[in-house]
Amino acid sequence: MSATSELLIGAMAFLWLVQGLPGPRLTSASEAPAGPPARGDVHTLGNPDQIRVTHVDLDLTVHFDRKEIAGVAILDFERQPGVGADVPLMLDTRGLSIVAVGTRASKADPLGPFAPAPIQLAPADPILGSRLSIKLPPDARQVRIEYRTAPTAGALQWLEPALTAGKAHPFLFTQSEAIHARSWIPLQDSPGARLTYSAVVRVPKGLTAVMAADSLVKPEEAREGVFRFAMPQPIPSYLIALAVGDLAFQSLGPRTGVWAEPSVLKSSAHEFADVEAMVASIEKRFGPYRWGRYDILVLPPSFPFGGMENPKLTFATPTILAGDRSLVSLIAHELAHSWSGNLVTNATWRDFWLNEGFTTYLERRIIEDLYGPDRAEMESVLGLVELHDEFKDVPPKDQVLHIDLTGRDPDDGMNRIPYEKGALLLRTMEKKFGRDRFDNFLRSYFDRFAFHSITTADFTAYLKDHLLLGPDDAKAIDLGAWLDRPGLPAGFAEPKSARLEAVDRTAKGWLDGAIATDRIDAKDWSTHEWIRFLQAMPEKVLAAKLAELDRRFGLTDRGNSEIAHQWLLIAIRNDYAPASARLKSYLTTIGRRKLVLPLYKALLATLAGRQQAEAIYATARPGYHPITVDSVDRLMKGAK
Ligand SMILES: [Zn+2]
Repeated sequence: MSATSELLIGAMAFLWLVQGLPGPRLTSASEAPAGPPARGDVHTLGNPDQIRVTHVDLDLTVHFDRKEIAGVAILDFERQPGVGADVPLMLDTRGLSIVAVGTRASKADPLGPFAPAPIQLAPADPILGSRLSIKLPPDARQVRIEYRTAPTAGALQWLEPALTAGKAHPFLFTQSEAIHARSWIPLQDSPGARLTYSAVVRVPKGLTAVMAADSLVKPEEAREGVFRFAMPQPIPSYLIALAVGDLAFQSLGPRTGVWAEPSVLKSSAHEFADVEAMVASIEKRFGPYRWGRYDILVLPPSFPFGGMENPKLTFATPTILAGDRSLVSLIAHELAHSWSGNLVTNATWRDFWLNEGFTTYLERRIIEDLYGPDRAEMESVLGLVELHDEFKDVPPKDQVLHIDLTGRDPDDGMNRIPYEKGALLLRTMEKKFGRDRFDNFLRSYFDRFAFHSITTADFTAYLKDHLLLGPDDAKAIDLGAWLDRPGLPAGFAEPKSARLEAVDRTAKGWLDGAIATDRIDAKDWSTHEWIRFLQAMPEKVLAAKLAELDRRFGLTDRGNSEIAHQWLLIAIRNDYAPASARLKSYLTTIGRRKLVLPLYKALLATLAGRQQAEAIYATARPGYHPITVDSVDRLMKGAK
């Protein structure tokens, strides 16, 4: 124990903390040896295999004026057997200002003092951030870290009122996946290290805080801007999530509901009316929903993803509010993560396909249950198209499921391949072994690994013990080809859709001139059929034909974000001027990466387009999430 800390007892410790004097530091980097990576996770600087954080108690104050969360995190941890007393606790941080760090021996006295601890904050790695090493006295059981986030924190998006639906109040939301939790909470930011948490969140009066956790909110406290939460199930850190804004709630069923800004609450509740039935659909096949409530939070349009499966509270983009429930497969997807991902979790980011491939497969099973096999099959076919498109852009070594992300940002592996190739592996097994047998296998898999984080090797071992039993089974499913080789293995279960094939014939006829524009029979087309029709367009289409199509079907003015996206791609490639105002409004109001990135990419193909892209991006960039900004910045830089 250092001389400083010996002086600190009772009120003195409090004084040290509020004054924010830094604790004494370790003198050299060599005193804090790097721990072994957590189960091979190359994206953490923490050492959960040596000293594992099991719980964090958060006290967070949200400052909109300076775009900062001031936090206190009290971490419980367990030293693993055989780990020497000289090994420090190592945590991930990125851009955090560490104000004070203390340790104490027991949780028995919640008001007991924390003695300042020697720490070392290593120089920042551009991807991973800075390792925070805390030297622990032998009897230490808890550490207390007082810290502040940076205005540039990757997980946090601070929205000015103008960027919200209601335009009157600011909004904050977090996106911790993949390795952004460390930019707002000091912890072991590895999906292989699960923890429980509790939180008090203090926000400006009049705003509401929600977390992906059980709400312990008391109305009298909430009026003062104080909100309490608890997550009793052990989760990976990337599932810790917070949002603050002008939010209202509407119930959808006994255990489901929706949070949204008041102006979009009604349309959101209408769009998600089937959620209770979705929960029932998956429960009957794959076991109980183990998280209590399932609510959905509709975020402002700058949310970079379609959805994020934060437990108990999916975060969703408003771009799926189509009015006709045609884009709710996204909700089916996020809900399915309550089994694959949140319950059984990828232990490292190279196992990401275990989260996303399984979930994409389950999503289509839910869609089949609720909306019939035709629609599920259309969605599978469109998914395969996205997969083939991705193969064109991605080098062979990254077309594998078990991807090597060493030295790279795990966000680099988050393309369509883990989703669609992973889902096709499961689909192929279902067709080979029959649905009953495969469903039984999946159910046993979820039960066996519930609340565990597993690697691809864990999965294949279980698969070989429980499904690929005979030599013929192993031959039928060439795991090596799926996991470690590029492209798709021969004999994969290819989806087919008669309805989309009919659309293909219509598109071909129209392009050939055999079908006149006013003879296109699209009155019963779903969103999926429209997407297919627009995707069937070649690089160049005559301007007069596009104008005809637009006049008849009002494509430039379509509110459906996916149809508009496909149409705008065609408009860019063909310099179709009547859509340019719509393109600008689309790119400046939507921040969902999947929808905006391909449009910028298409614009960058020509010099004039590049100028247009730069002009639009200058306006749009302040409203995008850092994750989208990073992707578009890189695209722009690469094009120069
Ligand atoms: Zn997902």
